[in-house]
Amino acid sequence: MNETLIQGAYIVAGLLFILALAGLSKHETAVMGNKYGIVGMAIALAATLWLATKSAGFDALGIIAVAMAIGALIGITLARKVEMTGMPELIAMLHSFVGAAAVIVGWNSSYETSTYPAIHDVEVFVGVFIGAVTLTGSIVAYLKLSAKMKSAPLVLPGRHVVNLGIIIAFVVMTIVYVLVPHENMFLRQLLLGIMTVLALFLGWHLVASIGGGDMPVVVSMLNSYSGWAAAAAGFLLNNDLLIITGALVGSSGAYLSYIMCRAMNRSFISVIAGGFGSDGAVVGEAKDYGEHRETSAVEVADLLKNASDVIITPGYGMATAQAQYAVADLTRKLRDRGVNVRFGIHPVAGRLPGHMNVLLAEAKVPYDIVLEMDEINEDFPSTDAVLVIGANDTVNPAAQDDPTSPIAGMPVLEVWKAREVIVFKRSMNTGYAGVQNPLFFKENSAMLFGDAKDRVEDIVKAL
Ligand code: NDP
Repeated sequence: MNETLIQGAYIVAGLLFILALAGLSKHETAVMGNKYGIVGMAIALAATLWLATKSAGFDALGIIAVAMAIGALIGITLARKVEMTGMPELIAMLHSFVGAAAVIVGWNSSYETSTYPAIHDVEVFVGVFIGAVTLTGSIVAYLKLSAKMKSAPLVLPGRHVVNLGIIIAFVVMTIVYVLVPHENMFLRQLLLGIMTVLALFLGWHLVASIGGGDMPVVVSMLNSYSGWAAAAAGFLLNNDLLIITGALVGSSGAYLSYIMCRAMNRSFISVIAGGFGSDGAVVGEAKDYGEHRETSAVEVADLLKNASDVIITPGYGMATAQAQYAVADLTRKLRDRGVNVRFGIHPVAGRLPGHMNVLLAEAKVPYDIVLEMDEINEDFPSTDAVLVIGANDTVNPAAQDDPTSPIAGMPVLEVWKAREVIVFKRSMNTGYAGVQNPLFFKENSAMLFGDAKDRVEDIVKAL
């Protein structure tokens, strides 16, 4: 009876997780989606605790309570401290914990016996492999996103041969591991140890060889890997809910990676294979594009007073400046004056899928004026003014005009086609991909230097 109830609770939790994912796919239903997820997780936790007391007695609750208290303490401390701009790094770090957990579960399970030893051995090998790749890959992603490691791709000689060699070695070692008798513990542990080290290296190498511009895909791909790592742990622990949840995270992460690859005109295989097919071009070299023009908040306010169509394209700088409330305020003021204000959101603007949408929703910008790149790109030629607020790579015309650029081929917001473009940033520095932006030097562009929040507030005052 108890067993049936637990399985029932797991099915309900699984369904709630599916509803959560469905809810999170749209602005309007995202809050509800989150609630489904929270309720599903509460049910899953309660059922799992019950299961633990059934199999290990009430004493197990003490150990679990201590582990949960430590986890909760770390989680609450991190969540309270983290700025919105630090979310991508935090997520990358959390992915690495899932990878570490899968490696530990795999190693622990390697000491257990099973009715189907061959299947169990394969599960151990696959679980540790995916977990180890996720662990080091996520640590490198964390380092790159927090600028503790350079975002330029690492180009080792023969890097694709190295990656392929490790994958072949993994397959061969899995077969040998299954064939070695269980009594020969030393050889089995040696094989598992070598494979773990190789997988740790592969995770590090795959992400280190990906250039800055392709990092968004890597983040969602690691999200997917962490799901598969959890699913592998679910097989090892015989936990159906972990398998379902892991598969949901794994497949939705894989689909998100695919969508982002399409949005960025990148080959999915190339990115997951660690930049395979790219020439590993070195980024950051400065080109002379001529003189740039500067403007002031008062001049921009005058321009906006006389405009009838305005598009705002926010980027990572809006997040760092926490300018979303000032931007929402400016939007309200302009709309009250009858100006048609809309937002153009690039799929990889910011440092997190949906980063800009979250910030604008937080500042209560109406959803119906926040449009995707594909929905707004054709409207720039008929737009009076574009306000580029802390965006750089996502509005860089070099992606279309310069085939040698590291971001060549990536679709961008074609802001330069508007009558006037105002770029809000603090300096002439490059964006995340480390490439100069010819937009800043175009005749119809003007730079409004300073912190984006301060400058937008100045414009609001001047209006
Ligand atoms: P970028 O990172 O290209 O540029 C942001 C710009 O904001 C900088 O040029 C910076 O210039 C400016 N800025 C920073 N702080 C401020 C501030 N306080 N006030 C005003 N301006 C500021 O931004 P985009 O959003 O256009 O592009 C995102 C990049 O991040 C892409 O390359 C994408 O591939 C990558 N990426 C995206 C991820 C995602 O999932 N969305 C994940 C990982 C990477 P200055 O210093 O001169 O002020």
